[in-house]
Amino acid sequence: MENTPFSTLFAEICDKNDLLHYVTPELTAQFERLTELMLETNRVMNVTALTTLDKIIPLHYADCLKIAISIPEGATVADIGCGGGFPTLPLAIVRPDLTIVGIDSTDKKVRYVQRTADALKLPNVSTLAARAEELAQDASYRESFDIVISRAVARLNVLDELCMPLVKVGGQFIAMKGAAGQVELDEATHGIGRLGGEILAVKRYEIHLSDTSEDRTLIVTAKTTPTPREFPRPFGNIKKKPL
Ligand code: SAM
Repeated sequence: MENTPFSTLFAEICDKNDLLHYVTPELTAQFERLTELMLETNRVMNVTALTTLDKIIPLHYADCLKIAISIPEGATVADIGCGGGFPTLPLAIVRPDLTIVGIDSTDKKVRYVQRTADALKLPNVSTLAARAEELAQDASYRESFDIVISRAVARLNVLDELCMPLVKVGGQFIAMKGAAGQVELDEATHGIGRLGGEILAVKRYEIHLSDTSEDRTLIVTAKTTPTPREFPRPFGNIKKKPL
């Protein structure tokens, strides 16, 4: 497998995950270039723990592409805790109609994501080095995004308070979770209501690797009323006493 060309593996994994519509020469070339840039940077800073194509393609690319269908045409999107650019970069590659802001508290990660977006000529990506709970206190960002998404940042009962205040009334928060998504949702239900949200959908599916698969849960929350001004609280309080 080590010597299998990128394009062959990309097509195989997309096929297994019902993502064949993304297998065009242009998009394949963009994902191959993203892989080169990511692995090059990974030698000097920690961008990803996944370093082989048989893991990167399903667990980073297919995982992020599976949510593309859940985002409405032309939406403004905030990716909270974008880290090494997931899901920001895969989404921006396949959805040029979206305006995506990759947000992370670690400045060097955000700088890497912006550099990579520029190298891939993705004008629909901008980045911000900020903590979500602090950004939500800034009037120009609070309740300003159509869609907020987040993958692998915190448990849902903490994540909701970081993300929901940034969603416009009428917009949605999409949490990308693994097999334990329903358990996390059960402990977060009360807080979601207090933050102005209502659960719209819980979508379960599998991500298929070459020889195994992993469970995923997308939790989609509709923002139905404004988030009360008292939220988000400082991070220490959110963590110590989730809603
Ligand atoms: N979303 C990426 C992914 O799925 O590969 C990165 C996940 S990484 C495990 C979590 C990221 O969330 C880190 O880069 C961290 O700096 C960021 N983060 C944690 N708390 C945050 C907060 N309150 N506001 C903004 N970013 C945060």
